[in-house]
Amino acid sequence: LSAGQRLRVTDPEGEQVADLVAFARGDSGEWLSSGRTFDYQSSIRLTTGDRLWSNRSRVLLVIEDDTVGLHDFLLAPCSAEMFRLLYGHDRPARGCFGNLAAALAPHGIAPDAIPTAFNCFMNVPVGPDGKVEVLPPISRAGDHILFRAETDLLIGLTACSAPNSNNGRLKPVAWEVLPARDTAAAGAEAASA
Ligand SMILES: [Zn+2]
Repeated sequence: LSAGQRLRVTDPEGEQVADLVAFARGDSGEWLSSGRTFDYQSSIRLTTGDRLWSNRSRVLLVIEDDTVGLHDFLLAPCSAEMFRLLYGHDRPARGCFGNLAAALAPHGIAPDAIPTAFNCFMNVPVGPDGKVEVLPPISRAGDHILFRAETDLLIGLTACSAPNSNNGRLKPVAWEVLPARDTAAAGAEAASA
């Protein structure tokens, strides 16, 4: 994703999570950080207008549009080990983590460098006692979230394969890269208005 371009992630059928990670293109030492984002946004609930920050305190993405308003940035991507420990699976799927690791390896990103993902549409309420739950997403068919890149990025995106996160049914996600807004045209419009 180049600076200015937008990434639209759509849930075509509803109730499907999509994990997203982002790295500065050409420098995988800078990545999208949940901790920095919570710090600067003063919230763990991120939606339209919010900025998503890197471990080096730069804005990597801005949420331009969001038809759901409920996402998670707390929980790590599901993985084979997690399926063994939490679900008791004998032959676990590799999950979001395995998919991200495979997709990012050709770009020089080792599995241990994969951070907590921004989990589009994931419903993880935090109780007053600090307990977290994983509930079905509230996203419906066609719901989407639109990110704008503030710098050149490498993005990893998965369709999550954790049964509890997706109300028991694993479904596709859709994504589309939209061009940068034509700021010159927008400026001319504003000038003529
Ligand atoms: Zn997952």
